[in-house]
Amino acid sequence: MRLSIFIMLCALFGGALFVYYMRTNSVRSDTKLQVVCTTSMLADAIRVVGGEHVAVVQLMGPGVDPHLYRAREGDVRRLAHADLVLYHGLHLEGRMTDVLAAMNQYVPTVAVCECIPKELLRESEFEGVYDPHVWHDITLWLLVVTAVRDALAQIDPEHAADYIMHAQHYHEELKALDAYVKTVIAAMPPEQRILVTAHDAFAYYGAAYGLEVVALQGISTESDISMRDVIDLTSYIVNHHIKTLFLESSISSRNIEAVQQAVHARGWHVQLGDELYSDALGDAASGADTYVRMIKHNTDVIVQGLKDL
Ligand code: ZN
Repeated sequence: MRLSIFIMLCALFGGALFVYYMRTNSVRSDTKLQVVCTTSMLADAIRVVGGEHVAVVQLMGPGVDPHLYRAREGDVRRLAHADLVLYHGLHLEGRMTDVLAAMNQYVPTVAVCECIPKELLRESEFEGVYDPHVWHDITLWLLVVTAVRDALAQIDPEHAADYIMHAQHYHEELKALDAYVKTVIAAMPPEQRILVTAHDAFAYYGAAYGLEVVALQGISTESDISMRDVIDLTSYIVNHHIKTLFLESSISSRNIEAVQQAVHARGWHVQLGDELYSDALGDAASGADTYVRMIKHNTDVIVQGLKDL
């Protein structure tokens, strides 16, 4: 069934009938709790906290840009079939937000990043919209892991003690990771701590770990890039003697390469650093296929790219 038709039928007749139809027409493969989520970061947190009790289905694979992702026909079926749906919220899943919010009428659905107290969130260039890239501050991701734990425990109280224990162990690992990032960034000379990237995903990282962050594009990759943006960033790079620009795994390198060429035309050499994982984890071969490995990879790439060459 096409998504548009599904939504239209839901509006006309009430979606509960269709969710019931899809749930009863699907064969459950096992008795594990079926949790459907959006991004790879979230899937990783659910796997760690859920352990053997949970089967995780992630809708967005490695390298997929969540700002631009549109729900597919199969996604609606997976969402309807879930015991629990977890997504980021804060408009990260820009084009899926309505579908996800509507799902809550039929399946328990939680926007886990919206559990973070508002005063800890960063405002964005859009009024009333917060920057959704909270996972780059490990202390904020700890709060999200807690929200995942609570959502699992509530829907599956029989295994709540296990979810609490898994989350507790993971908290310790994340606190150690936070200390690692703080230590290696603090060891860099302050004048080298300027991170220039394709889109503005690293503001939380910069604020938490002491880097100035400059991006070509705003917090969503949906916005257009103007010639003015390219000229302004080019001037910034030349004036601040920036040596490295960073690519992002979920975004085309075209725009950053255009900036690099404009900088070279102004007589300053800037290199392209290794890829950062901003809005998705990497695949199994990337060395950034879990949240912990992604943060370590990004930190090591940033330190390597910004040090004196
Ligand atoms: Zn983003």
